Amino acid sequence: MTAALVRTPTDFEERLRHYLFERSEEGRAVRVGEKETSDQAAIVARYTDLFSREQIAALRTAEDAASGDAKERLYRLRSTCEGGIIAAELAAQGDALENAQLAARLSFKGEEMPLRTAQAKLAVLPSYADREQLGEIQGELSATFNADRLALLRAGEGLAAELSGQPDAIARSEEEKGISLRDLEAALVAASAAIDAAWEPLRTRWFDRLLGAERDPLPTSSHSAWMRRLSPLEATYTKERATPVCMETLQALGFDLAAQPNIRLDLDDRPQKSPRACVIASDPPDVVHLITRAQGGLHDYQAFLHEAGHALHYGGCDPALSYTFRKLSRDHALTEIYSYICEAITREPEWHRHHFGLSAVQAQENAEATTFLEAWLFRRYVGKLRYELGFWSRYPQDGGTSEGYADTLGQAVGLRYRPDAYLADMDSGFYSADYLRAWIRSAQLRQYLVREVGEDWWRNAKAGDILRGLFAEGTKPSTEEIAARIGYAPLDTAPLVAELS
Ligand SMILES: [Zn+2]
Repeated sequence: MTAALVRTPTDFEERLRHYLFERSEEGRAVRVGEKETSDQAAIVARYTDLFSREQIAALRTAEDAASGDAKERLYRLRSTCEGGIIAAELAAQGDALENAQLAARLSFKGEEMPLRTAQAKLAVLPSYADREQLGEIQGELSATFNADRLALLRAGEGLAAELSGQPDAIARSEEEKGISLRDLEAALVAASAAIDAAWEPLRTRWFDRLLGAERDPLPTSSHSAWMRRLSPLEATYTKERATPVCMETLQALGFDLAAQPNIRLDLDDRPQKSPRACVIASDPPDVVHLITRAQGGLHDYQAFLHEAGHALHYGGCDPALSYTFRKLSRDHALTEIYSYICEAITREPEWHRHHFGLSAVQAQENAEATTFLEAWLFRRYVGKLRYELGFWSRYPQDGGTSEGYADTLGQAVGLRYRPDAYLADMDSGFYSADYLRAWIRSAQLRQYLVREVGEDWWRNAKAGDILRGLFAEGTKPSTEEIAARIGYAPLDTAPLVAELS
């Protein structure tokens, strides 16, 4: 056995850049349907020298001796190195679970279909009874993977505890994010309660509209994907107009996507292309991919603008920043501010009137539909965060259970959840907390833009200039630093409550 190769932080960063570039480009090719098989394992095998316990120790020594930005850069490199070890050690177990789920089949109305197809079909089945039935079958089959999901989660948790030296999952996540998750939870629970009175009539009106008045008073979560697509509005928001309208929307804000060659647009329709829009920042700011595949409906427009926010952020970062501050972040809370603020344009009634020739009343109603979606998703994520905090605080004693999952989420949004969906519905690393911080911050940023630029900020190039200044900072600042810069306390939820009320 040879001694592990230990690099200087700068050499590690440079080789990491090549590794992440190759993995990103491989992932992109498969995702957009250019390649039929994924060769990530071969890339991981070529770079095994990059991730070792010795390398972590060397980065930690350098980090302990550094201060300020240099310390932060070393922290991010070390934590990426830890993540690389975990990813490599769990790759086989993760692939096995993924492949088993890909191979799983169910039968619905005499038709045999993959589990993933059934999940996608739930978004487009027009019959309430069919969605109930398929949701039930899909939920049963999905739950058969729970033992494997839990085993993978426990293995990942064990490794993360060992490599970081922090055995408590909540404390570890708080260290990473640099915040108190309990304080965040308290602020969010209060914000959620503050919109209760506005939420209830909004929920009743749109549940009736989207599910029919004969719906169950407490419908199952099988209807979630169907409602998210806002299907009754589909005729107005056509698939064909999604790209031109979104490009024009960004143009009004001062961003000409077509003239930014570093943001590579992939808007084509290919049979194997994933329908989920995404951004792959392979090497920001030089290589950033914006990938969408329009399906029809307002959701296409929201997804395009959301992803454009990420693309403009990564594609707009200052090339003079170190690679770490262009690409690596402690969490996702910063970049999600910029996706949310672009997506928020679809909540402006005037945007609907202007682009789709709607009457003022109709435009108002369609904009209200997006507020309904926003309030619903926000409350769902508050429920998710509360459940996850309970899950991880009990974890040392019970090893992870569904206790509280269905009740917490059900009460938050007024849908019936299957208790055994608790693992399929959980993202790692308290991602829910990152989304929720972005919700708070993007509402603050919107209020700031209204104050600085005016109510029409969303079609004013001055707002674009302010955003451009924030994008230039890359991944370096925390979302809490952005709050300070625009004059808000990090947990000030007043602008968000105002938006969702
Ligand atoms: Zn996003």
